[in-house]
Amino acid sequence: MAVVTGIGDSALSRTLAALKERPARWLVTGSAGFIGSHLVEALLQAGQTVVSLDNFATGRRENLDHVASLVGPEAWSRHRFVEGDIRDPETCQSVCASIDYVLHQAALGSVPRSIARPVDSHATNVNGFLNILVAARDNGVKRLVYASSSAVYGDHPALPKVEPEIGRPLSPYAVTKRVNELYADVFASTYGMKSVGLRYFNVFGPRQDPDGPYAAVIPRWVKALLTGDPVVIYGDGETSRDFCYVKNVVQANILGACRDEQDTPHEVFNVAVFQRTSLQTLFECIRDLLARDFPGVATAQCRHDPFRPGDVRHSLADITRIGDRLGYVPSHDLRQGLVDALEWYVNSIGAPVGGIQAGSG
Ligand code: NAD
Repeated sequence: MAVVTGIGDSALSRTLAALKERPARWLVTGSAGFIGSHLVEALLQAGQTVVSLDNFATGRRENLDHVASLVGPEAWSRHRFVEGDIRDPETCQSVCASIDYVLHQAALGSVPRSIARPVDSHATNVNGFLNILVAARDNGVKRLVYASSSAVYGDHPALPKVEPEIGRPLSPYAVTKRVNELYADVFASTYGMKSVGLRYFNVFGPRQDPDGPYAAVIPRWVKALLTGDPVVIYGDGETSRDFCYVKNVVQANILGACRDEQDTPHEVFNVAVFQRTSLQTLFECIRDLLARDFPGVATAQCRHDPFRPGDVRHSLADITRIGDRLGYVPSHDLRQGLVDALEWYVNSIGAPVGGIQAGSG
C-alpha cells in the first residue's frame, strides 16, 4: 500500500510559525510518559511556555531529563513540571490556571492492564479525565486535545476504520476511552468547552518503555532481539496494526489544538498512517533493520503464543478526516519511524555493535 508521507509538515510548519509569533501557554498531562514527553519537547522547541503534570504511575523522570538535554537551558526554563495526580480535582484546577491549550495524555494505557485492574483504569482514565475537562472549562482553556484510542472501534469489522463507525468495546480500557469521547462531546454541547479527540493507532518511538508486562510490542521486541530473549507473537502473526510514529502524533496534537476557533466544538480523528502491517511482517522488518548493525540477529525467529483476550484482530485507520479538517499528513511511515526509533533503542539499551547473539526462538 502506497503511503504518502513527508508533506504533512506544511500545515504543521505554518502552525508552528504562527505560534512562534504569538507564543501560548500549554498544559501537557502525562508528560513523563512516552507521548507526553515528545509533546513537551516539540512545544518547547517551538518557543512555547509549558506546564506539565505527571504522577510517575508509568512515566519516568529520565524522559523529562532527556527532553531537557535535547532542548537546552533556555527552552527548558519555559517549562514547569508539577508532580501530581489527575484523580485530584484541585491539582487539575491549579495546573489549568492561565493555560491556553491542554494536551491531555495522562492515562493508564494497555488493554491487558485494564482487564487485570479495571477499577484503576477507570479511576485515572475516566475520573481523572473528567477532572481535567472540568478544570479546563473553569479556567477558560481555548481547546483541549485528548488521547483517545483505536480501541474505541472494538468489534466493528469494517476496514479501514472511519470515525463514525464504532463497535462494542472489547476491554475496560476501550470503555474508558469511549467515555472520554462522550464526556468531551457533552461538554462541548452543554458548556461550549472546545475539544479534539485523537484516536491513536499503535504509537511507537524513542522513550517508549520496553519493560514490564504491559510494554508495547515494538520496544519489547527490539529489546528482546538485542538481548537475545525470545520474541513472542500472540496468535498466528497475521494480526495487523497501523503503526504510527510518535512525530505524527505530535503533529496531530498541535494541529488539533490550534485549529480555527470557529471549527466544530468537539470532533474525533484517527491518528495513524493508513498502512497495514501484520505482526509477522513487523517482526521481520525490525529484525532485518537491526541485522544491519547486529548480524547475530539476522536468523532470529519468533515464538507464537495463544491469542490474548481483548485484542482487536485487525486495525487500519482511514485518515481522510484528519487530513481534510486539520491538514494532517503523516511525516513518517513505519519504516522511517523504525529507523529513527531503533537508533534510540540501541543507544538506550547500550547494545554492543557486533556483539549480539541471535534471539532464541
Ligand atoms: P505512558 O504510560 O508512557 O504515558 C502516560 C503518562 O500518564 C505516564 O507518564 C503516567 O505516569 C501518567 N499518568 C498515569 N496516571 C496518571 C495520573 N493519575 N495522574 C497523572 N499522571 C498520570 O503512555 P503513552 O503511550 O505515552 O500514552 C499516552 C496516552 O495515549 C494515553 O492516554 C494512552 O491511553 C493513549 N494512547 C496511547 C497509544 C500508544 O500506542 N502508545 C495508543 C492509543 C492511545
